[in-house]
Amino acid sequence: AIYRAVGKNPFLNARGNRPTVGQILLMSKEALARRVLSNPRIKIYRCGRSDIRSGQVDRRVLATLEFLAAWGLKPTVTSLKCSHSYYTKSGSVSHHSSGNAVDIAKINNVPILGNQQAGSVTDLTVRRLLTLQGTVRPTQIISLLDMGEPTLAMANHADHIHIGFRPRYGPNAKLGRQARRLLANNQWDKLVARLGSIRNPVVRLKPSKYSIRVKADPHRASDAHAAE
Ligand SMILES: [Zn+2]
Ligand SMILES: [Zn+2]
Repeated sequence: AIYRAVGKNPFLNARGNRPTVGQILLMSKEALARRVLSNPRIKIYRCGRSDIRSGQVDRRVLATLEFLAAWGLKPTVTSLKCSHSYYTKSGSVSHHSSGNAVDIAKINNVPILGNQQAGSVTDLTVRRLLTLQGTVRPTQIISLLDMGEPTLAMANHADHIHIGFRPRYGPNAKLGRQARRLLANNQWDKLVARLGSIRNPVVRLKPSKYSIRVKADPHRASDAHAAE
């Protein structure tokens, strides 16, 4: 439970009423969606706004937009899920299709096109994005700038920065969404945080030294009932 003084909002910082960047990154998807849609520092094309309203955009994408705006890098979003092709140019399923990617064509109203040199808005934005860590770390930051993983320079990204995140549920996306609906926002975020801290068990491919070696019986007529 969150204990707080009456009348005080725990998500506001001590100095005033604007949440800190760290607080923004911890907000629920629904809270982030409301903020992004009403933030005058974030411009989003019309059907992209309905992607957000209908809950189709991942919270990491929403958190990233709020994060940039909070750092004074006001994004113009030209692609979320809606109107983006299902596949990428190379033929794989685009992270846009699952609501896990965003394209930004302008920062502070300055077009990405023609502004990717050192010190440009693109340069500043990509560097800022590289400070996103942990669960909000992008897996793709594509522009003309290569600053090492997870950035990638691609010639067809002269006019936008693509930011993508690994889909959370893989091929069972539908199942994941259903499970999510059963959990309240807070519970879900806590669960995701916990899952992230559990290490996958190591599965041995070779038999362990404690296993007993069984020789095949050369006198058996058939392998059909080997277990009996
Ligand atoms: Zn993209
Ligand atoms: Zn792209």
